[in-house]
Amino acid sequence: MEIRILGAHNCESPDTRLISILIDQALVIDAGSITSSLPFSAQRGLKAIFLTHQHFDHIRDLATLGLNLYAQRTVELYALESVLDVVSSYLFSGEIYLDFRNRPTPEKPTFKVCPLEPYKEVVIQGYAVLPLPVNHGVSAVGYQITSQDKKSFFFSGDTGRNTPTLWEVVSAQLLIIEVTLPNSYRTLAIESGHLTPQLLKEELNELKGVRSSLPPVVTVHMNPELEGEIRGEVEQISRELGAKITLGYEGMAIVL
Ligand SMILES: [Zn+2]
Ligand SMILES: [Zn+2]
Repeated sequence: MEIRILGAHNCESPDTRLISILIDQALVIDAGSITSSLPFSAQRGLKAIFLTHQHFDHIRDLATLGLNLYAQRTVELYALESVLDVVSSYLFSGEIYLDFRNRPTPEKPTFKVCPLEPYKEVVIQGYAVLPLPVNHGVSAVGYQITSQDKKSFFFSGDTGRNTPTLWEVVSAQLLIIEVTLPNSYRTLAIESGHLTPQLLKEELNELKGVRSSLPPVVTVHMNPELEGEIRGEVEQISRELGAKITLGYEGMAIVL
């Protein structure tokens, strides 16, 4: 399984893109930087898109991708039903852009919306996909994705601290998890449902409690202007936990 981080940040600039994670050039989690990262040919190769939640930085490329794929193919769009409802009501309302759920025709739309249920694993394009609820203020899930040859990773999406229930279920060989803010922004991070390096450490200690050792961890959704501070603090918790924790970046490829 090849995982490519297309966007690793929470703010966009020519050097930093919003969250999208590509799997084997066929599946993508979150639509923050699909069209800004992939050539048209690669966009046409996508089979399914998974949304972690409804925030704009995770959904916005559905509009641009929708037009790029228009009348060429249908892509499956998976998310919690409540997330699909919000995306349908606003982004696909037909008022700010096209309703890609029904265009070009309801029989052959650009996006076929497919609701997922929390904790219910489904097999999509040969991958076992397990949506697991995370704490982010709005309905949100992370995804544990397992390939046919039993390689697996868990991507948290946006999340604050979780109950241990989450980590009792996660069994992946790699964690991709958000760290949005440095430790000095702890209060804001807690209020907005995000992690700092210290909060990540607390989260990983929960996981350590149920597993003998921690898998490698890659962080994403960093605030670019605070990334230097975040990097130093991530290096520190990496040493303290004896775990391999690295900051993700645009174009980072990981082969499991
Ligand atoms: Zn969010
Ligand atoms: Zn976000």
